[in-house]
Amino acid sequence: MVMPTNTIVQNYGPPFAVHGDVDNLKFSRQIKEEAIRNGIKKPKGYTVSWHLNPEIERHHFGRSHPMKPWRLTLAKGLITSYGMHYAMDSYVSRKATPEELAEFHTQDYLDYLKTAMPCEPVSYPSHPHNLGGDDCPIFEGLFDYCSMYAGASIDAARKLCNHQSDIAINWSGGLHHAKKSEASGFCYMNDIVLAILQLLRHHPRVLYIDIDVHHGDGVEEAFSSTDRVMTVSFHKYDKDNFFPGTGPLNSTGPEDEHNPGAHHTVNVPLNDGIDDEQYTSLFKTVIQSCVDRFQPSAIVLQCGADSLAGDRLGPFNLQVQGHGACVAFCKSLRLPLLLVGGGGYTPRNVARAWTNETSIAIGCDATLNPILPNHTPYRNHFRQTTLFPTPDELLTESRLNRNTPKRIAEIVASINEELRFVNHAPSVQMQDIPPDLTGLRDEVEDEIRENREDKDEDYRKEKEEAVGVDMEL
Ligand SMILES: [Zn+2]
Repeated sequence: MVMPTNTIVQNYGPPFAVHGDVDNLKFSRQIKEEAIRNGIKKPKGYTVSWHLNPEIERHHFGRSHPMKPWRLTLAKGLITSYGMHYAMDSYVSRKATPEELAEFHTQDYLDYLKTAMPCEPVSYPSHPHNLGGDDCPIFEGLFDYCSMYAGASIDAARKLCNHQSDIAINWSGGLHHAKKSEASGFCYMNDIVLAILQLLRHHPRVLYIDIDVHHGDGVEEAFSSTDRVMTVSFHKYDKDNFFPGTGPLNSTGPEDEHNPGAHHTVNVPLNDGIDDEQYTSLFKTVIQSCVDRFQPSAIVLQCGADSLAGDRLGPFNLQVQGHGACVAFCKSLRLPLLLVGGGGYTPRNVARAWTNETSIAIGCDATLNPILPNHTPYRNHFRQTTLFPTPDELLTESRLNRNTPKRIAEIVASINEELRFVNHAPSVQMQDIPPDLTGLRDEVEDEIRENREDKDEDYRKEKEEAVGVDMEL
């Protein structure tokens, strides 16, 4: 049974298709048993929400394109096979509205995206809005695809704003390269910017952290002139040979000291081969310094999984555990937390990372059996049967760590020096708060809440019993 809906968000329950279907009932029992065996239950004292729209997975960038929305199918299959959805409030998201998309993107770009006809990618330059080339092809349903992943991030941010959620997850989001009027690096609309704009309605300061292997340039650029958002990006940096070629250590925001955004950009440029130990230690050091100086009231963490060893595009040596340790550290800061996906071009490892990170969000990582459940859909696609393959299993050939301790120490020192210029908890001018373009928002939220309170008891029972709820795996 699909939960009550309105036009803004739809609540849904666990993944079962047909009432009375013997296979589905068997599957539902297996999942329930798996959840019990792994100690999966609703977290005590906080709420985790999961925002997704299965329609997103059906889109194709083209056969040889590295971005495979199918990775979301794999991730969702593994997350639900463990029964982690029992521990979260799950929502099928709606598409972002044209007004919401226009809060960041220009109207002519949105109009072009909406009417662009699918065509074979052509490699010559000078495409309008950078659309139609090899990186950002125009495919069937492109506008819907973008509106859906953006809608999911906006919904997630709003759940944090109205305190219905403490950790909100949208693995289909995290498209950090998209610009105001330009597609870039497989990203067409910047759901992160749109989500942060939502958070800024209620939060004086938002810390954006990016652990994708690529520089989070689109988000950095969007908020470069405000002191209400600090952006921190950890990425492989090579100006000439690695996309997008931006994000050096000395890129710290506008040079004009009178610009409020000065010193509110933090870049952590890294070389090939960084491993779990070095990365997590650096991450904790840098983020703790940023939190101490900036004092954010909410955090957005982009969990791009192309920073894992064995990624088709990324040259780092991170394991699922090290990537997840960054999520655990952010969670430990006990601030409203939005987790979004991002890059990730070896689907089986993307699914592993985001499943492990979901388990961290709901607090069952310590009791989770690393052996993938036998009933996991497409289990053979994972190759190794564990959630945590070793570096040898992830990499086809070993890759040297080219980040020296000396260079890491220089990076930390430089960032700490720069952070000294960040005013401790800057004051918020009311005129800086983005206008609420849809005045109905609060009313709609009230309606959702009332609806939900009415149904909470039924919903709780259904979740516990795990029967008779529609959703396709
Ligand atoms: Zn990336």
